[in-house]
Amino acid sequence: MLEVTGLSAGYGPVRALRDVSFSVEPQTITAVLGANGAGKTTLLRALSGLIGVSSGSVALRGDDITSLATEDIARLGVAHVPEGGGVIRELTVDENLRLGGLIAGAGESERDVVLALFRPLQERLGLPASTLSGGERQMLALGRALMARPTLLLLDEPSLGLAPRVVVQMMAVLRRLRDERGMTVLLVEQKAEGALAVADRAVVLRVGEVMADEPAEALQGADPKLRHAYLGY
Ligand code: ATP
Repeated sequence: MLEVTGLSAGYGPVRALRDVSFSVEPQTITAVLGANGAGKTTLLRALSGLIGVSSGSVALRGDDITSLATEDIARLGVAHVPEGGGVIRELTVDENLRLGGLIAGAGESERDVVLALFRPLQERLGLPASTLSGGERQMLALGRALMARPTLLLLDEPSLGLAPRVVVQMMAVLRRLRDERGMTVLLVEQKAEGALAVADRAVVLRVGEVMADEPAEALQGADPKLRHAYLGY
């Protein structure tokens, strides 16, 4: 589904990603883990064309998308949910969802599919997004992304700031999306526990480089010292 080869990117003199290579199989969840500043957000930005890359390539289903504009990458079925969700607080839940569907021309039927996944949103359709709890806002962010009928979801720390119970619910939704809708997910998380519980594979970044690229269960069962070195806990 996604092939990242020798990717380097940064901000002026700051090289945030160095020679990053990994691949993502279709209909899998790949966790991208690493401490603060490891380059996780930069990786998602580079994949969705929000920042330019200095070298390397990104292929989506075999096609080179490295230098495509963000909107063209989105049209190819890549949805990026930034840290914090990026929902528009002044708009209602319904308006946020409809905005998400614009790019794909999605209508009522897609909205119904999304609302079936996130039942609490159904009761709050007419309310401004600012009135939602943190967990509901993350659901809305994910729901809005799904309205574009993506095949690849790029999620930046969806569990940030959420109660453990809500994190479990969020991960269960990701599992359903993979198993029932054949979605491929790249899941950036700083806290590894929840992500490893649902991921098939894990790529660990450290200061912009790939430290490990392994089946998720290999990291789940890893020696505590190794986990500490890789993941900082
Ligand atoms: P976090 O978990 O804190 O979001 P991260 O793993 O997502 O961390 P990035 O945000 O990708 O890390 O940052 C990687 C490096 O790039 C860091 O050294 C960071 O300071 C730097 N960086 C990030 N954004 C910018 C920017 N807009 N301008 C300059 N440097 C930046």
